[in-house]
Amino acid sequence: MKFTVNKTISAQQKLSRKLVASKKTIAIVPTMGSLHDGHRSLIKRALKLADVVVTTIFVNPTQFGPGEDFKRYPRSAKSDLELIQKAGSKVVFIPKVQDMYTDDYRTYVSVHKLTDDLEGASRPNHLRGVTTVVTKLFNIVRPDFAVFGMKDYQQAMVLKRMVADLNWPIKMVICPTVREKDGLALSTRNGYLSPMHREQATALYQALRIARKLCMEGEERISVILRDMRRELHDLAPAGKVDYIAFTDMETLRPVTRIEKDTVVSLAVRLGSIRLIDNMKIG
Ligand code: AMP
Repeated sequence: MKFTVNKTISAQQKLSRKLVASKKTIAIVPTMGSLHDGHRSLIKRALKLADVVVTTIFVNPTQFGPGEDFKRYPRSAKSDLELIQKAGSKVVFIPKVQDMYTDDYRTYVSVHKLTDDLEGASRPNHLRGVTTVVTKLFNIVRPDFAVFGMKDYQQAMVLKRMVADLNWPIKMVICPTVREKDGLALSTRNGYLSPMHREQATALYQALRIARKLCMEGEERISVILRDMRRELHDLAPAGKVDYIAFTDMETLRPVTRIEKDTVVSLAVRLGSIRLIDNMKIG
């Protein structure tokens, strides 16, 4: 199959129809572009799952709140296409905003409860934008597999719930977070950090490691783990403002009162105008 870039919804629908008719399996890797090694790892995983990997690039306006960085979110189509082609994904779908959301667009998909806390509490409507756009991408691309990163932990769990609730025959695959050498989770927004904030940004990972270490030593009390995480964040990132640190059950996102099996600790920290998130399974 030759490398194909679909810029219209109808072109992607036509190709997907053809693939489905010829019994080829499809894996989708949804992204907002400005691709890095984290995205590359998702494509590599997708290649192992299906006959054809469709990587999508769409900076989705409905998942950005007022005052967030939709307009200045980096766009780098040329280098993205190079990365995708090199990684081995044969199809790229790059729809236009005005085609995905026509002037008379009125439909949103939302997952209840799981979206109330964590990112949902800090970024109203963000997750509704994600579930809506992913629904649209699934309907257009018709994947058998969908590959997402654990980096966006709540998003991944919300999407898993949505796929189960809506009875989509799509296997959801969640991949581990790819990190810089110093532990900082790769993210498009890291590029916005000033050199000082970039240095301090490693604190998120170090705080998560402390949580995991305490947990491995048998500590179950969240108050103790939280205290040490906050101390680490304060020492390594004095400029950081903690938005939240949460201990939740991995799948249900329910807050836990003691560390249990499948507990995930997740956090969001602001450094200047940049908000970073990260998480680690510690239970
Ligand atoms: P984005 O382009 O930021 O919307 O991310 C697209 C996909 O890449 C999502 O499923 C993210 O969770 C995933 N992703 C982002 N950063 C990383 C990372 N550092 N490691 C693994 N996956 C990632």
